[in-house]
Order: sequence, then structure tokens, then C-alpha cells
Amino acid sequence: MSLLPIDSLETPRFCGLATFMRLPQATSLAGLDAAIIGLPSDSGGPFRTGARFAPNAVRAMSVMLRPINPYRGNINVFDILKMTDVGDANVVPGYEIESLQRIEESVVALVQAGIVPCAIGGDHSVTLAELRAVAARHGPVALIHFDSHTDTWDSYFAGQKYSAGTPFRRAVEENIVDPHHSIQIGMRGSLFRADDISQSLDLGYDVVTTDEMFATGFEALAARIAKRAAGKPAFITFDMDFIDPSAAPAVQTPEMGGPTARETLTLLRLLHDINLVGCDVVEVNPLYDGPGQITALLAATVMAELLALLAARRASQPDGRHVGA
Ligand code: MN
Ligand code: MN
Repeated sequence: MSLLPIDSLETPRFCGLATFMRLPQATSLAGLDAAIIGLPSDSGGPFRTGARFAPNAVRAMSVMLRPINPYRGNINVFDILKMTDVGDANVVPGYEIESLQRIEESVVALVQAGIVPCAIGGDHSVTLAELRAVAARHGPVALIHFDSHTDTWDSYFAGQKYSAGTPFRRAVEENIVDPHHSIQIGMRGSLFRADDISQSLDLGYDVVTTDEMFATGFEALAARIAKRAAGKPAFITFDMDFIDPSAAPAVQTPEMGGPTARETLTLLRLLHDINLVGCDVVEVNPLYDGPGQITALLAATVMAELLALLAARRASQPDGRHVGA
């Protein structure tokens, strides 16, 4: 079967079942480089739940996106990456640990077949399950984490260890992320405790607040990210609340004062030299989106830029067919 997206110049975008960027639906994992997978769980969400509806909302808006990326030399992403949309992981609504187990099983099936998982969450706890799956093949990964929050709390509500506020402490404890090659970018806003940033630094993460991001400049920041992850298999996780709520209102925990859509895309387009073994875009809550579905469209665009980053690296490496160190 063809592994190319439906041609939107032949068949209008509003026709047919919505898959990410009109990719074919999976019938087999054979020969794939990467795959889109939905992770429709919001059982780890402490505030505005509803991210269970995100994968299909993001797919619906992703039909707007076109396969050629002019920001990386006009590459056709899907000529380079053989991809399908494999649908969604199964989950158990309301049961966080069971949902994470099912998500991990679904992502393991991709990773063990040599496929780079490109996931649409879900609340941010789903990333822990993805990291478990990726690390089982590649070892502890360099985490590149865009978010207005660190998500490195020890526990939430009566000592619960698994939630959208804790995955990146658990990931260090489980030795599936190497914090000394990892970086968290975008932290801002009011805090429950003054040590919110220092607890991430204590774990070994590099942390770049939104204020520091703008003071540093995007080119220097992109270089800092590449240097941090150099030589390691890397995983990019993108929490949509990294972006200002004026451009991404439909998130669980919005924080005012973030980058615009344009600034966000500029930063992503500057990323380079990253050995991406997995990525996700999380924390879209379609129940709060505007009538133009701008959050879902921006989430789809962020994922498209991550696919372009992956494709550009493959294209630049003669034996880039397989990822990982
Ligand atoms: Mn988060
Ligand atoms: Mn967040």
C-alpha cells in the first residue's frame, strides 16, 4: 500500500476519515520509520480534564498542513519518512496506572519494530509511559521538555505519585531519562512552592525559564539544546501550555505571558542535530478550544515541525534509516 498522505489537490481536505496530516491508517508496521499514535488519557490531570479528546481534535485540524517544509530546505517530510497513523492506544478512563500500562504496551510495539513514536496526548503523565517504552530500547534518553511547568513534583493529592505534575521526577527515579543531558524550557508564572525550579535543578535538569528564553535569544537557545542532548538518543515532549494562552487557550493549566505561535515555531525551526527517538505533543483540551480550534491547529503544527526535524536529520545521514545510538 502507498505510505503517502492523501493528495489534497486531488481529494479535498474535508473528505474522508481524519488521520494526522492525511497519512494512511496503519495496516502493518512493516517498513515504517515513524508513526503517529494518539494517547487519549486524561486520568493524570489535576485541573481541566478533557485531553482524552485531543488526538482526534488534533487530527481534524492537521488536514490543513502540507507535506513540504520550506523552513528546512523544502523537504517533503513523507518522501523521507515512511509513516502511518496507527490510531490510539487503549486506556482505562479514570485509572491512571492502568492507562499508563496500556499506553506503554502500545508504544513498545512501535519502538521494538524500530519505529519512532510520535504521540498526541493526553495529559502530560502519558509521557512517562512513552519514556519507559523508548528507554527499554535506547537506554536513558536526553529529554527536551517544553512546558510552562517543570512537572517534577514528588506527589499530588494524598501522596499520589502518578499525575501530570510528576512524570519527570519519576522518569529520573526510573533511570529512563538522563537528567544531565536533559533540558526544561519555558517555566513561568506563579508557584505553589518556591522550590519549583530548584527541585528540577537538584534532579540534574537544565532549566530555562520563559524570561531567560527571551533574554538568551532563540538561536543561542537552540544551540544550548543541541549541546545538551549531543550524542544521546533524545525525546522531545511539548506541553501546549508552553505557549501563551492567547494562541493556545485550550490547555489544562494555562499560564499567561508565554511565547506567541510565531515565536514558538521559530524556536522549533531552529532546532538541529538532535537524534530524535520519540516525541509528543500533549495537554490539548478541545473542550476549551475556540471556535477556530486554534489550539488543536497549533498542536498539529508543532507536531509537523517535529516530524520535519526528524526528517531533516534522516535526509542528512546516508545511513539514517535507523535511529538510536
Ligand atoms: Mn506538563
Ligand atoms: Mn504545563
